[in-house]
Amino acid sequence: PAPAPVTVIGLGPMGRAMAGTYLDRGHPVTVLNRTASRADALVARGAHRAGTVEEALTASELVVLSLTDYEAVYAVLDGADPAAFAGRVLVNLTSDTPGKAREAAAWAAARGATQLTGGVLTPPQGIGDPGSSTLYSGPREAFDAHRGTLEVLTAAEHRGEDPGLAALLYQLNMAMFWPALTSYWHAVAMADAHGLKAADVLPLAVGALDVTRFLEFYTPRVDAGDHTGDVDRLAMGAASVAHVLATAEDSGADTTLPAALLDVFRRGVAAGHGADSASSLVEVLKRP
Ligand code: NDP
Repeated sequence: PAPAPVTVIGLGPMGRAMAGTYLDRGHPVTVLNRTASRADALVARGAHRAGTVEEALTASELVVLSLTDYEAVYAVLDGADPAAFAGRVLVNLTSDTPGKAREAAAWAAARGATQLTGGVLTPPQGIGDPGSSTLYSGPREAFDAHRGTLEVLTAAEHRGEDPGLAALLYQLNMAMFWPALTSYWHAVAMADAHGLKAADVLPLAVGALDVTRFLEFYTPRVDAGDHTGDVDRLAMGAASVAHVLATAEDSGADTTLPAALLDVFRRGVAAGHGADSASSLVEVLKRP
């Protein structure tokens, strides 16, 4: 079949990469952005610049939304003629909370459109690479109908019908991604006080941030509620984190991260988990 028409609303780095990938693959592409000039390079490559939101919506059954947050989604779409939404599949790849994603799905449904929520697990450079992935949730039928077109961007997995699920999975991903990356930046900042460069920290970082073995070890235990302190004890973990905090202090570097960790570890010990595994922090973190 001929490549399906696609509309891309929102031309930040992500939306531009997506629209560009669709153009490369021969799809008729319509684009719309608040700052119109961000569409210029795409228009020069053959994209159609929509003059109105209604035009953007009616140009393609599949409408990709790539905006900063859902407030921006409403800023763009609210006020558009409701008739323009009829039969559209809004592929909302905008990051926000599961609650906001569910609300927007109901908002779309009230206008006769279907929302597929997506969490894109790659930076813009990964768009167009089938090795990258995006998790989707929402009506399975809409996903199946457009799967081929979605897979032009990244591999596509449908995780469930709840429109909030993909947003949740995306936020879980970011809840791990940002602290991991910031922990690297913090280590680099501490190292700098001792004359070391990021390049000196890199080999350590690669080892420290690959925690696969720990994840595999703890996962079945956590799901079984088993926090036996046979291989590690939370009290030992708290002492270790206190050493990191003291080293950060001595380095003159920021102490926010280790201080926050030490607070959580100490609360775990105070709650009676000192002799349990550090995985018992899951119980502490569930009920702050
Ligand atoms: P940006 O925030 O750079 O781009 C956002 C787009 O939203 C721009 O087109 C901007 O328009 C528009 N926008 C923002 N506020 C408003 C508003 N009030 N009214 C109208 N338009 C508005 O984001 P990215 O392109 O980097 O990412 C898009 C989404 O994808 C985000 O939700 C992000 O979390 C997610 N994501 C991003 C990744 C990345 O690495 N960049 C990775 C995975 C997901 P204008 O050009 O006029 O400012």
